[in-house]
Amino acid sequence: MTMMVIGEEKLPEGALEVRTLGMTMRFGGFTALDDVSITVPPGTFHALLGENGAGKSTLVKCMMGFYHATTGQMMVGGREAKVPDPRAAHALGLGMVYQHFTLVPSLTAAENLVISRDDTPAIIDWRKEHAALTEFMERMPFAVPLDQPVRALAAGEKQKLEILKQLYLGRRFLILDEPTSVLTPDEADEVLGHVRGLCEKGEISVLMISHKFREVTAFADDVSVLRRGRLVGQGRVADLSHADMANMMIGSDAPVAAMARAGMAGAPVLEVDGVRTRDRSGLKEISIEGLTVRAGEIVGVAASRATVRWN
Ligand code: ADP
Ligand code: MG
Repeated sequence: MTMMVIGEEKLPEGALEVRTLGMTMRFGGFTALDDVSITVPPGTFHALLGENGAGKSTLVKCMMGFYHATTGQMMVGGREAKVPDPRAAHALGLGMVYQHFTLVPSLTAAENLVISRDDTPAIIDWRKEHAALTEFMERMPFAVPLDQPVRALAAGEKQKLEILKQLYLGRRFLILDEPTSVLTPDEADEVLGHVRGLCEKGEISVLMISHKFREVTAFADDVSVLRRGRLVGQGRVADLSHADMANMMIGSDAPVAAMARAGMAGAPVLEVDGVRTRDRSGLKEISIEGLTVRAGEIVGVAASRATVRWN
């Protein structure tokens, strides 16, 4: 991995330490982020919790240079970092993985990786790129098929590829914004397990926005909680229960109790029987043995990866 240079100073190799100091962001008279200081030590997995509108996206957009914080600073690798735009954040080794995929579905994984670089040549020597990519994949703790169109990959594979892309681009601090929302629980566990493994090996540090306490408890080391733009709690995940984290998120307000179920299911309004088809990619079979939806009913649909069946 190449050394990143800021002025005359070189950043250390491997996972980066990133800190925000008193970060504040005002939109007109509204303070979306109020004096937030967070430290992510190198090689750690830090979760960022908060209700909708708490300021989580605003914080990470300030860190990545999409927004310019009104006041406050960021330190990367122990030095003050100026991030006027996302390109500057990338040059420091900061990268972001989103909830939705940013890959080009019709291109292969290899093509997606090569075109994501800033220095992709106008004429690509695919033999050379392939050799370099194969060598890159061999160094990685997990792999994704390089030669299939991305549209043929399952959601979990796509998210693994998004993470591999960040590593390929030399990023050493990853911000993950609800990275598992379109994954099944098994896929989420696999992806986050790999991310945690990369942290433990000292390759990356991670700041993950999440709403899922289960994932925070299973994979994160530390947690910070935002409420109405303020940092209202911080700690080691091992010391906190789900109830502790929920209390920090919503404050002392009593949680709203779920409404009691009311009414009775009425007559069937939809009946499906013995339907077999392929999904849009043409790669997966969907098979519905029998499904009935009655008036006044809410029907949940769950499915395994390969075949969808209702009984
Ligand atoms: P979260 O990601 O935690 O759901 P956000 O950081 O997106 O929250 O938003 C925090 C608050 O800042 C919200 O009240 C939101 O409406 C406001 N906000 C976010 N971006 C802007 C913007 N560009 N202009 C004005 N207000 C904004
Ligand atoms: Mg958000």
